[in-house]
Amino acid sequence: MNSLSRLGAEPVAIRLPDQLKTVAGLVIPGGESTTILKLLDEYGLSEPLVRSISAGLPVLATCAGVICLADHISSHDMEPLRLLHISVSRNGFGRQIDSFEEDLSIATLPGPAYRGVFIRAPVIESIDDGVEVLARLTNGTIVACRQGNIVAACFHPEFVDDLRFHTYFLNMVEEHAGLCST
Ligand code: GLN
Repeated sequence: MNSLSRLGAEPVAIRLPDQLKTVAGLVIPGGESTTILKLLDEYGLSEPLVRSISAGLPVLATCAGVICLADHISSHDMEPLRLLHISVSRNGFGRQIDSFEEDLSIATLPGPAYRGVFIRAPVIESIDDGVEVLARLTNGTIVACRQGNIVAACFHPEFVDDLRFHTYFLNMVEEHAGLCST
């Protein structure tokens, strides 16, 4: 939220379905995907979320957020929202102790390398047609992608001082808001 505020946005925490109608974009952050999916269900947010995102609401999903939106989670029996046509492996890089940082070259971010902070991150194992790769590790693993109004990152843009990833997302939000008002 801090990064978005620094860029002039006014972030609010969404807890109830009706609030979804009041925002121009949505961040589904890192955390624990099992808990996020459970709470979405308990608060009656899953269905409205699927509806809003399918209707074009711009979304930035990071880490656990990517898992929640995926089509398929390998080696886990969680039911994700199936909005983003990728298959992910939860904790695909290992445990907390295997968390790491790596300089990334992100297709849509001009300028110097972007520092990716990976904390018990998922691995994007495969992507379907219509999903564009935005970044890979040097070993080729896909760690960021975009599918229309959804941008997904396995790393944590909120943990670096570099605001380019959030700027990229806010540009998506502005473009979408512009389309809605015409
Ligand atoms: N490992 C967590 C999960 O499976 C994600 C971790 C994170 O969001 N940093 O949900």
